[in-house]
Amino acid sequence: MNVVTDRVLSMKRSGIRAIANLANVMPGEVVHLEIGQPHFPTPRHIVDAAVKAMEGGYIRYTKNEGIPEVRAKIGEKISRDFPGWNVAEENVLLTIGGVYGLAITMAALLNPGDKVMIPDPGWPNYTMEAITTNGVPLYYPLRQGNGFKPSVRDLEQVVTPDTKIIIVNNPSNPIGTVMTESECRKVLDFAYKHNLTVLSDEVYDRIVYDVPFTPMASLNHPATVVTANSFSKTYAMTGWRLGFLIASEQLCANLVKMSEAFISCPPYISQKAAEAAICGPQDFVHEMAAYYRKNRDLAVEMLDRSGLPHSVPQGAFYMLIDISRFKVDSETFAKRLLAEKRVAVAPGCTFGPSSDGYIRISFCTEIAQLEKGLSNILSFVNENAGR
Ligand code: PLP
Repeated sequence: MNVVTDRVLSMKRSGIRAIANLANVMPGEVVHLEIGQPHFPTPRHIVDAAVKAMEGGYIRYTKNEGIPEVRAKIGEKISRDFPGWNVAEENVLLTIGGVYGLAITMAALLNPGDKVMIPDPGWPNYTMEAITTNGVPLYYPLRQGNGFKPSVRDLEQVVTPDTKIIIVNNPSNPIGTVMTESECRKVLDFAYKHNLTVLSDEVYDRIVYDVPFTPMASLNHPATVVTANSFSKTYAMTGWRLGFLIASEQLCANLVKMSEAFISCPPYISQKAAEAAICGPQDFVHEMAAYYRKNRDLAVEMLDRSGLPHSVPQGAFYMLIDISRFKVDSETFAKRLLAEKRVAVAPGCTFGPSSDGYIRISFCTEIAQLEKGLSNILSFVNENAGR
């Protein structure tokens, strides 16, 4: 008999990490286009605030929901940035990164066997989290022919009477799509009709290229929305592990029970760093996004010249490249690319059951590295044309 539950045994680990682990032990230089984390250091004023916090004795537990100053500041900033969306301290719960916010929402909302609608292609952790919280993943397609956006017709075909949550990721990982207001409204109408909670993953909300970003919850729709966000990508703070959830006061009061059970509270020092991030100058956020835009343009130009089909990201820092014309699965493709050309990319299969015809690159890296990685991908593709 197994000591570990069947559901944990059945859970597949992320294929992104699998390639990263291979790449990290390879001798010599590898171009890393697999993991999505800003190559920029955390801005100086944020680091300074953390050092000051440590020295000033901010080293104990905090309230389970996080310190009031940061929760209130997040609320103020959102209410300022998106007039009409009123977010108070009571609507904000600080979490250990966005990933934990998503997980505790599922843990709090799912009864055993409840279904969770997950985008395909979508971030692999959604599946892992649905499984660990006793839910059952149900994939809804994001079709290339529909601009990789959710179509209500597809959603209607997938939903079941025991579906409880629909996860929407906007801007999207791994595609880079950004939904318009009317596309958001269609999903909200659908969710309301079927009594689903929209779990809106908006961790890339500040990384958009020339298009407006619409937070789901800002639309004041009667559907229930829980928003997951994070300091990781916006402020180059992946290792600080701080994110937040925004939900109704009543939902937050229940979600916080999960934090009390699992983590007590996020680290005080990271919360003080987040305070500096949210209250301090925001120029850096725009400068980073401008850098990624240049990277995006370079990638689009190089791939267009090669004739290899790809998504054109309007947000986040990922791009899907269509490799379906090669007669190998995406995992084999990624492993051979790594072995032969020393470029690490994420295999499409990890993003959902119908995503095997793609690989994903992350372009949140130095532009010279990106250029080198792409050149190597293209030479691999040329050498393997017809295979
Ligand atoms: N959501 C998406 C779509 C992501 O790509 C990531 C990280 O890569 C996260 C959430 C969680 O990030 P973090 O836990 O660092 O906030």
